[in-house]
Amino acid sequence: MPELPEVETTKEGLKKDLVGQKILKVELSNKKLRFPYDKNFEKKIIDKYILSITRRAKYIIFKLSNEMKIISHLGMSGSYRVIDKKLFNNRQKIKHDHFILKTDKFVVIYNDPRRFGYILLHSDTNFEHERLSHLGYEPLSKNCNAENLSSLLYKKDRNIKNVLMDQKIIAGLGNIYVCEALYKSGISPLLEARRLVNKNRTPKKELIFLVKNIKKIIESSIILGGSSLKDYVNTEGKMGYFQNKFNVYGREGNECISKGCSSSIKRIIQSNRSTFFCPSCQKK
Ligand SMILES: [Zn+2]
Repeated sequence: MPELPEVETTKEGLKKDLVGQKILKVELSNKKLRFPYDKNFEKKIIDKYILSITRRAKYIIFKLSNEMKIISHLGMSGSYRVIDKKLFNNRQKIKHDHFILKTDKFVVIYNDPRRFGYILLHSDTNFEHERLSHLGYEPLSKNCNAENLSSLLYKKDRNIKNVLMDQKIIAGLGNIYVCEALYKSGISPLLEARRLVNKNRTPKKELIFLVKNIKKIIESSIILGGSSLKDYVNTEGKMGYFQNKFNVYGREGNECISKGCSSSIKRIIQSNRSTFFCPSCQKK
């Protein structure tokens, strides 16, 4: 499943080629994505310019010259390709291409074998789209810091793994990056979140370290183009490389890589998702 670094890499690829371009044509396949397209999708965006392409959590947002926004989520298996118009003419349509957008110079193709992704239109300038309005802190933003998190965590007796996966607290962190951040911080995924906050609601040093590690891991994954576990590719069709840097994720039964630790990595299920951790290094 594409997580924040993969979505960020995709967004950067789209932004590089498409900002300033005029939308000339849209082709929608008749297969349904997770949510149906706007009834007048094509009519509403044709002849409009793409003013900006940004990311919020795992959403990619195209702002158009008529104040309309295209909001896209990659779901489980979505990916975008951007192809030079001249090269596209010789390209055969590939299975699972669902959405094709043509601009002056480029063709943008959304491919999604499992069709859990979606592409929505939003026109209300006063209100955020309902899918974006309840999102928590953006992990790389300044607001996402140990002090702000303390005031959310101090009464949470849920475990820290599930709290970090909660999109209303931090938006866009996924399973891989949460497992890696907890491992790097030496914090057990089973620890009650409130144990990371002092009685006076200031962050304990463990929480400060955890927040630092979350940012570091997300940043280094973005530098490597994200993680390609199944078939994630960027807008040029290239894979990411962060999967080679996993310390715990997917390493069940293998020896922990920490110096002097001879324990093996364990896998448990928390809220229907696999958690990988080292029972010796992550004791707190
Ligand atoms: Zn260990």
